[in-house]
Amino acid sequence: MRLKKKHFILVAVFVILVIGFWLLICFNKRKNGICQTHFKMAFIYLLENDLNQQTNTEKLEQTKKISEEVFNYAGRGFITLDLSYPVVKIKINNQNKDRLLYTDPNNLAIYLKDQGIVKEFYINNPDEFDFISIFTNFKIGAGASEAFHALLQNKVEGIGMGMRWDNSANYGSKGKLLGYNYMGDVNLIFTSEFPEERSYYMIGSLLLQETVHQWGAFIGDQDGSSGDLFLQHASGAHWSPGLNTGYDPLGGGDWQDNGDGTFTLKPHASYWWGGEGINNSLFKEVFSDLTLYLIGAVSKEKVNPILKVNYAGVLIPGTTITSEKKYITIDEIISKHGVRLCR
Ligand SMILES: [Zn+2]
Repeated sequence: MRLKKKHFILVAVFVILVIGFWLLICFNKRKNGICQTHFKMAFIYLLENDLNQQTNTEKLEQTKKISEEVFNYAGRGFITLDLSYPVVKIKINNQNKDRLLYTDPNNLAIYLKDQGIVKEFYINNPDEFDFISIFTNFKIGAGASEAFHALLQNKVEGIGMGMRWDNSANYGSKGKLLGYNYMGDVNLIFTSEFPEERSYYMIGSLLLQETVHQWGAFIGDQDGSSGDLFLQHASGAHWSPGLNTGYDPLGGGDWQDNGDGTFTLKPHASYWWGGEGINNSLFKEVFSDLTLYLIGAVSKEKVNPILKVNYAGVLIPGTTITSEKKYITIDEIISKHGVRLCR
């Protein structure tokens, strides 16, 4: 059937309008300094001969589902994480072992050769992920097994990470991969004192925290240091317990101003920040405006002055302290670290 001229014009006008709106949205995001807001992550299950292979893979699939839910709830509609890609199993054998693992000859502790592992992943999987999370079925390192985040590049200026840099090529990515998480030994993660469902939420919470280390907390000074802008925990990379972030995944408290010079830590469901533990629907961890600003998901106008009290201790809900009342503004942060910029 021939398209009538009138129809053609209508379609053309519609297409122009759609493109116009799209350009307008892009322009507005640029103007407000909004960076990337949608992220993709893949899971690697690195395993030595594993009798529970099938069960562990299924549990990791479930972990992925819950982690996506936890992350997207925390993102408050400003950032989202797509974890739909199936768990990628990498089996260690005699051919690839030397590329993937390193054994310390002194104490026989096993370490990851992270470049080798990520490159192995790219042999059969596309370079379309912003993050990769690695799980093992064996212990890593000589001490207690701990999760961590490794930055492979930084695309955002003004967040205390220096200028833009990119090391992703050494991992086999063409500038896409931002960083990876090591999440731990599945035998420890899934053999906990908690019910299975709750372990998924705990891992989801851990994944939230490790992933957001891509952007923080690197601004300001550490509690107890000789600085003047005390935003960080004394050990660095997390928010100071005295910073009123609403129990952000990166740390900080949720302080109630009692109006008489005292402040009390509010209750919270999160396992990590001193709450009762994660109880599925009770789980309400969200990113603070300041953290979303570092990620590049909200403009500086969205970040209200943040209450800072004098407290550097453990976050135990119900704790009451006496403190002066101070606010830290986004302009103070910008004058110390520069304007947040991204490409
Ligand atoms: Zn952390």
